[in-house]
Amino acid sequence: MTVARVVTGAASRGLLHEDRLFPAEPSARAVARRLYAGVRDLPIVSPHGHTDPRWYAEDAAFPDPAGLLVVPDHYIFRMLYSQGIPLEALGIRRKDGKPVETDPRKIWRRFAENYHLFRATPTRMWLDHAFATLFDLDVRLSAATAELYYDRIADYLAKPAFRPRALFERFKIEAIATTDSPLDDLRWHKMIRASGWGGRVLAAYRPDPVVDPEFEGFRNNLDRLGEISGCDTLSFDGYLDAHRKRRAYFKSLGATSSDHGHPSARTADLGQTNKRNLFDKIVRGTFTAEEADLFRGQMLTEMAAMSLDDGLVLQIHPGSWRNHNPALHTAFGRDMGADIPMRSDYVHALKPLLDRFGNERNLSVIVFTLDETSYSRELAPLAGHYPCLKLGPAWWFYDSPDGMRRFRELTTETAGFYNTVGFNDDTRAYLSIPARHDMARRVDCAFLAERVVTHRLDEDEAHEVAHDLAYRLAKETYRM
Ligand SMILES: [Zn+2]
Repeated sequence: MTVARVVTGAASRGLLHEDRLFPAEPSARAVARRLYAGVRDLPIVSPHGHTDPRWYAEDAAFPDPAGLLVVPDHYIFRMLYSQGIPLEALGIRRKDGKPVETDPRKIWRRFAENYHLFRATPTRMWLDHAFATLFDLDVRLSAATAELYYDRIADYLAKPAFRPRALFERFKIEAIATTDSPLDDLRWHKMIRASGWGGRVLAAYRPDPVVDPEFEGFRNNLDRLGEISGCDTLSFDGYLDAHRKRRAYFKSLGATSSDHGHPSARTADLGQTNKRNLFDKIVRGTFTAEEADLFRGQMLTEMAAMSLDDGLVLQIHPGSWRNHNPALHTAFGRDMGADIPMRSDYVHALKPLLDRFGNERNLSVIVFTLDETSYSRELAPLAGHYPCLKLGPAWWFYDSPDGMRRFRELTTETAGFYNTVGFNDDTRAYLSIPARHDMARRVDCAFLAERVVTHRLDEDEAHEVAHDLAYRLAKETYRM
């Protein structure tokens, strides 16, 4: 009886409540609904993310449900792994080629049986949003509904309406940025442009493989950068020239930003001799961990100088201890859900860069954090003062309703709304893009509604801010 009622209840209510994430208090909820109605259908501007440009270039059908929704999503497999499910059982390829599960239906069933692990996580909300809005599913995913889900999703993925370009249009994506290495020839970006399709897919310059001396294959990457750019990348001047050339090439394929994923936000501004000596050590491979860190910090300042010339917006994504689990890293490689946030300092770390460029009005440096304690103590005061600095939205582990709410609570009173840059979906999970933007719009409307009912903001202003946060700030700050 209880089970039947639960199942019927889920079915009649569907997977999505129209008031989800809105305030519980009725007067604030009413304001939130009105604000949301004004931004719900705005186009999506996605200035930072990790979708594969090949999808838009080839416009081929996506693979089976597991291959699209489970196997590539580190949010999903890190949770399953934490509960004792081996990555092999989820079809994640091993570097040594040893066998892993290849039957997508089995992988899907394993995921469905464990869907309860995602209760009250953003992953659950993103997936339910896609299940309901794209696949017309209205019962909860579970062991009992695994087959229904698999068949429905597989069936829909075969339709022309589920090709990448059709979905791009359905999602109302006005522009989306990918994340690309300087060593990438951007062939898919070229193919997209040559195809005559109108979707705006922009490259973004992520030079970690040739900037971080501790990146796998760094020394070979330097050589390849030299071949690609025609510059002598073993001399510091040639190396900087190579970056300038690659940035110009990326810009020609739509790039408006660079992005830097460093362990810390450290910046440096060394004199000419010290820079050259440091670079020589890096090239020779005789550097210490401290020198590698110093070099990354120096390169952030060099990149800021280049941004001032070429207009690329500079994003800093610091504070992740990448590949924290060495056994997993050895067996499966990078990006396996084993990246863990670290405490981060910004006040000291950014000072060398800010001493040189902090007062530039034509430079945009967007700083992110995985250390929420830094928001009110460091980041909001910095961004609320320096003209070049802006705060990126709640990121990664905090790209969640509570994370977004905390971001606004900890930054707004010092930095306001206009030293923030709107939302980043930051995803490789294509089908979750509308869900993520919808979540951000709802959370911001809820936050604004609370300000309206406590008479800190007039409702007409709140409507304007909601629109800015959902659309205008991302478009303008990222120059998209
Ligand atoms: Zn990212």
